[in-house]
Amino acid sequence: MPRPISATIHLSALSHNYRIAKKYGGAAKVWAVVKANAYGHGLDFALEAFQEADGLALVEVDGALKIRAAGWSKSILLLEGFFHAEDLPLVAQHRIEVAVHCVEQIALLEQATFAAGTEIRVHLKVNGGMNRLGFKPAAVDMAFRRLSAIRAVKVVDLMMHFANADDETNVRLPVTEQLQRFAQAQAALGDASLEISLANSAANLLNASLKNDWVRAGIMLYGGSPGKGSAASFGLLPAMTLASELIAIQELEAGESVGYGSRYVALQPMRIGVVACGYADGYPRHAIDGTPVLVNGVRTSMVGRVSMDMITVDVTGIADAKVGSVVTLWGQGLPIDEVADASDTIGYELMCAVAQRVQLIKGE
Ligand SMILES: *Cc1c(COP(=O)(O)O)cnc(C)c1O
Repeated sequence: MPRPISATIHLSALSHNYRIAKKYGGAAKVWAVVKANAYGHGLDFALEAFQEADGLALVEVDGALKIRAAGWSKSILLLEGFFHAEDLPLVAQHRIEVAVHCVEQIALLEQATFAAGTEIRVHLKVNGGMNRLGFKPAAVDMAFRRLSAIRAVKVVDLMMHFANADDETNVRLPVTEQLQRFAQAQAALGDASLEISLANSAANLLNASLKNDWVRAGIMLYGGSPGKGSAASFGLLPAMTLASELIAIQELEAGESVGYGSRYVALQPMRIGVVACGYADGYPRHAIDGTPVLVNGVRTSMVGRVSMDMITVDVTGIADAKVGSVVTLWGQGLPIDEVADASDTIGYELMCAVAQRVQLIKGE
């Protein structure tokens, strides 16, 4: 028998959440973003659940090849494009679409030789002020002309990423300013008829007026909050339930402490459940006392420091808690965002950090 911890991946929740992305996107097509092993949910499960998706987007070249090899025949997009000249023959052969965000990538495309008839679909990335990837508006026309001069290349789309789609109070780089910069880039291209891709989950859920040909939906597909508003408030369902079991019970007297650093001290007699889940499973080490957890479906608190293979939880009020009781760390019944809040992080990080030693199990 393996250690009792596992992550159940709810395929029907993934499909349901994809439909919510479509609903919010209106007429837009939706890329299901499956980077980072589908945000920790497993590329194979994602592929199965997102069969109806318009396309799959990710950042890993090997992941893109894996999806193609698994029989996915629709569009695949590399959101950061290719990284090295050696990636190009694979991209061409397997019809993988690429973002192009810098002149170094353009130069590699110019220098490469492609078989006659090759068409590489390029998504030209605009830097709307976030200053990670993309061409500034004034450079977009140059990039477009250089790319269009390459016989094997077809520029199909203009894309941009928002820095603050989840926060309309951000005054440093509001969504409106990014949209102005994008409009500048579009204007410079004149009548080049390119599709547009702007929205991540937050922009899709929170900016109803945004015009988009392609939404790029990530976190919402996995049932996580886009940063503002609970996932449930958008009708999203948790796609991963991380669960384990109690492997020991300790009776504490008032004044006794638990775990490393003796951070938590019992003020009265307590029953403590020891759970087979620690930071080496992906549980956040910075979780504070009081972080929510379910034991036998009853909500209680994590107490004491998270260790490598274990956490300790208060089961004083849960009479039927015993060795073997089911413990839910997050997922159905306990939103991952609540655990993230108590650990000063975001649901994205928790999903992505679920460790290799935690088995992913296919669930409803
Ligand atoms: C990861 C990613 C997304 C998805 O973002 P979410 O906030 O998870 O919806 C969208 N666009 C790009 C370019 C990305 O890299």
